[in-house]
Amino acid sequence: MSSNIRINKICEFCGNDFIAQTIKTRFCSQKCGSKSYKARKRDMTNDVPEETSEGMRSYDLEVLKKQDFFTVMQCCEIFGISRRTIFRMIARNDLDIVKLGRRTLISKESISSLFVVQKPVAEDDENKTIDFDLDGCYTIAQAQAAYNISQSGLYLIMKKYDIKKITSGKYTYVQKKDLDVYLKGIDHE
Ligand SMILES: [Zn+2]
Repeated sequence: MSSNIRINKICEFCGNDFIAQTIKTRFCSQKCGSKSYKARKRDMTNDVPEETSEGMRSYDLEVLKKQDFFTVMQCCEIFGISRRTIFRMIARNDLDIVKLGRRTLISKESISSLFVVQKPVAEDDENKTIDFDLDGCYTIAQAQAAYNISQSGLYLIMKKYDIKKITSGKYTYVQKKDLDVYLKGIDHE
């Protein structure tokens, strides 16, 4: 028995009306069927098409570290893990992700919390909270001017007396009171 069913349907890929021969037909043509299949396959495996095969891109790690979100590829590079691992973590809800079109962005916080890698080397210095009131501070340049001392001379003294400094933005600050102790009495000609 040949089927004489004719069903008006809309192609799931191109959206055109077509007459389907069976209830299960979803596409107007084989072409749409295979295009849809490919598109789905691409969506499932990845977000950043094609980049992978030619190996990793080189990213500027310094720039990357300032980003709040990473692509999957960037995560691979920064943390040295495979895409598969990342997708597995996403599937387990271990990572906070944001979808941007087809791209998946991963929040830096969520991924770095999974690794201990991120510890800055100078952690000790940074965690020692000194009450730095920037009003009571000199930048290095200001300190040089105030005490009429060369930069190397200043650093020497800071090192010698273990004077704390703090970096904020582009500037390094030193507390006036710390310097005063050692430099007030010194007369520079
Ligand atoms: Zn179609």
